[in-house]
Amino acid sequence: LFSAVELAPRDPILGLNEAFNADTRPNKVNLGVGVYYDEAGKVPLLKAVAAAEEALVAEHAARTYLPMEGIAAYDAAVQRLLFGQDSPLLDSGRLVTAQSLGGTGALKLGADFLHRQLGKSLVAISDPSWENHRALFEAAGYEVVTYPYYDPATHGLNLDGMLAGIEALPEGSVVLLHACCHNPTGVDLSLADWARVIDVIQRRQHVPFLDIAYQGFGENLQDDAVAVRLFAESGLPLLIASSFSKSFSLYGERVGALTILTGERDETAPVLSQLKRVIRTNYSNPPIHGAKVVARVLNDAHLYALWEDELAGMRVRIKAMRQAMVEQLQAAGVSRDMGFIQRQRGMFSYSGLSADQVARLASEYGIYAVSSGRICVAALNQGNIAAVTTAIAAVLRD
Ligand code: PMP
Repeated sequence: LFSAVELAPRDPILGLNEAFNADTRPNKVNLGVGVYYDEAGKVPLLKAVAAAEEALVAEHAARTYLPMEGIAAYDAAVQRLLFGQDSPLLDSGRLVTAQSLGGTGALKLGADFLHRQLGKSLVAISDPSWENHRALFEAAGYEVVTYPYYDPATHGLNLDGMLAGIEALPEGSVVLLHACCHNPTGVDLSLADWARVIDVIQRRQHVPFLDIAYQGFGENLQDDAVAVRLFAESGLPLLIASSFSKSFSLYGERVGALTILTGERDETAPVLSQLKRVIRTNYSNPPIHGAKVVARVLNDAHLYALWEDELAGMRVRIKAMRQAMVEQLQAAGVSRDMGFIQRQRGMFSYSGLSADQVARLASEYGIYAVSSGRICVAALNQGNIAAVTTAIAAVLRD
């Protein structure tokens, strides 16, 4: 039966992890990962999470099925975080939120919903983008095209290209946008840039789908949601895939949400009912633990403050690593301006290293990065940064 099944191509990042694990050099460093490591090189368990878990364990609650859209207190907290706790949208009757299996699950729910209900079959993603965007939408029956995003010459945004690319899409296309801390480049839009993007999307009647997987890693929880809020103010209907994998360091618990802002109140009940059908036919209802933890933290003033503080700690440490990287590269004799590393935001930086230079980093120095040159700044610490910058300086020099 299965003799015709071909081996799927290896996931490039998992392949990188295998090569890293097989490397016996003691000073090896894995910059290919997509998770936050603390100063000790460990994935942290946040204190706010541990406190919420202890309280939950003490409750010994029964594990019945959740509603298809998940825990109501969780969904409401997601909305507050996205739109701001004083947003009039919260009571507008125009919001639908469904707990999902991480941000990935939220993207899949949104993709399926738009495909089944509105017949959408074309989506535009940024060039480059998180590699699963393409695969996920293709698997959901879409043709996936790209709009220009990154400008290698400036290590920044190609705004004109982006606007022209979005303009040129067939009217009514789904446009996927990274709300903050773009993966893989770390390059984000300014407020003024967003206003221009929103203008094009509105004129062309495209469907905006925001992916916000790193809220809190750029500036702070409020500023990182600025795209969400600007889109909401524009009056456009909107889909948002959000994730707590990074901001709560809860990767394996799969905690995310799909939020849909409908055009008007009357649309909300039908949208929710159809979204529930998508959920029902995919996995029936979501898991309890991670969302309970997050809901507990977000709905308790003390735990919320503790979490916000811990999130700020992760953000500040990443920024410190960015600054140290720029300084140390300069000190190691790199003459080109590497200041862009400090301007980029979130966990990643597009380092500008070529595939050959990345290969040399691995073979000669035991430093592993994605062949595109993407490095996870959140994997750097005081103990490994000198080795990393020395090695990068060497491969840039030769
Ligand atoms: N979107 C982007 C841009 C991401 O980088 C990621 C995680 N790497 C996700 C979505 C998915 O996150 P999750 O692990 O919550 O599914």
